[in-house]
Amino acid sequence: MKNPQKGKCSADVHNDFGVGFHSCLRQGIIQRDGKLYCKTHDPVEVEKRDDARNAKWKAESEASAFHQRRKLELWQKGEKYDALKTRMDNLETVLQQLLSFCDKNSEGETDFERAIIEARKILKP
Ligand SMILES: [Zn+2]
Repeated sequence: MKNPQKGKCSADVHNDFGVGFHSCLRQGIIQRDGKLYCKTHDPVEVEKRDDARNAKWKAESEASAFHQRRKLELWQKGEKYDALKTRMDNLETVLQQLLSFCDKNSEGETDFERAIIEARKILKP
């Protein structure tokens, strides 16, 4: 604290270049612990502003974390969906092949063994 003038705010503030400090030039109107402060530098108001800023930062940070988690969940769901879709497509192909092999050939026979072999190839490549 740089010897505030009588009746002036006791707070130290950055100078115009942001590299040093000087005493606040405003009139002190609020007394805290025997020192005068202007409305801006009243420690109670400063603390309120800091708390509000921290609460806002925390809320934004949590919202961002939530957003990231949600994006990851959606991505994972998309991955699962793609895997499931591939599996369903394979099953559909197998079913069609099974049905086609179940049709009787020219000698009036069905070829179940070949149907099973082909189905295995698709389901367990
Ligand atoms: Zn001040």
